[in-house]
Amino acid sequence: MAIPQELSAAIDDAVAADAHDLITLAANLHANPELRFEEVKAAAWIAELVASRNIAVESGLAGMPTSLRARAGAPGGGRVAILAEYDALPEIGHACGHNLIAAGAVGAFLAAAQVAERVGGEVVLLGTPAEEGGGGKIKLLDAGAFDGLDAAMMFHPADRDLLAHAALASLWLTFEFTGTPSHAAAAPHAGASALTACMDAFRLIDGQRVHFRDGVRVHGYITNGGQAVNIIPERAACEFSVRARDVAELDRVRAIVERCARGAAMASGVAVQVTVRQGYKDMRNNLTMARVFGEHLAAAGRPARETDPQLGAGSTDMGDVSHVVPSIHPYLAIVGEGEAMCHEHRFAAAAGTDHAAQTALAAARAMAKTAIELLQSPALRQAVRAEWSAR
Ligand SMILES: [Zn+2]
Repeated sequence: MAIPQELSAAIDDAVAADAHDLITLAANLHANPELRFEEVKAAAWIAELVASRNIAVESGLAGMPTSLRARAGAPGGGRVAILAEYDALPEIGHACGHNLIAAGAVGAFLAAAQVAERVGGEVVLLGTPAEEGGGGKIKLLDAGAFDGLDAAMMFHPADRDLLAHAALASLWLTFEFTGTPSHAAAAPHAGASALTACMDAFRLIDGQRVHFRDGVRVHGYITNGGQAVNIIPERAACEFSVRARDVAELDRVRAIVERCARGAAMASGVAVQVTVRQGYKDMRNNLTMARVFGEHLAAAGRPARETDPQLGAGSTDMGDVSHVVPSIHPYLAIVGEGEAMCHEHRFAAAAGTDHAAQTALAAARAMAKTAIELLQSPALRQAVRAEWSAR
């Protein structure tokens, strides 16, 4: 291990001392799921816990009332950020386990804060709202909250331990078709169906899948299927999520999907309005840093693989962070492999268990040690930066 035993032990002790408060935080967030940008209780509870350790908390960065930041240590050396997410999903609550991400990040920050002054440098806790579709980290990036950082890290719960699994670049496309309504029985010849165009868009896109590179995901649903059964639909709309392993392929597939919608509109003689909403960038996992995290995890009896080709990939605004600051986003299991996945009811239930909270504490210890190792070693910071620059 590349940090002195006494620092490692000090971090373990700090997390143990905070364990009760961290488990309570995870449980409170789990019992009070709040949607993106509405994480009022979560942000307040995190701020309260950090402030109780006599560390100042700033709130409301980047125009988001539920964002927050705290700093510890001494500016001048390295600077490392630990990120907390805390938003939940509609209807299924904390099915992505962001309550555990928050507890792990706060635990890591408080532990690292206790030893940061001994090694020099600064550790920063960033509370990042709205990962689920709101892109809070992108707003924080735009506001300069990630400026001057050597590294950024967080952990995410999963069904297996992985140090550097992929996350896909993503965007959303909305197609609104406008046709000509007419009586569907008495005068079908007088109408032009927006719904036919909408459905044809799905069929045309499906036909293009043979041309997509590995890892591409295109999935959509109809948000407006017409107005009444006896009217040729004047309006119909659908929304697609497009994902790819990198931004270049994402852009290429976006153009194909858009072309299909325009082709469908032309075939039905209706108009289409296309709206593109920016999603997230692909995750550029910093392997140098991920392996350091993995060493600390393994030293605590939890060896992890780097990735698993059997496992699919989602998207996260941590991807955007990773394009600006060397970053890691390791996954740690809170359920047995294959037992449940993010965004399922079973995963939501698992995120509220004591077993899951123990995983958050393991993440806290490994992140704190990784952060301290980064602060302590200019050579490691340099190696991390060199890998990031080479991408
Ligand atoms: Zn998540």
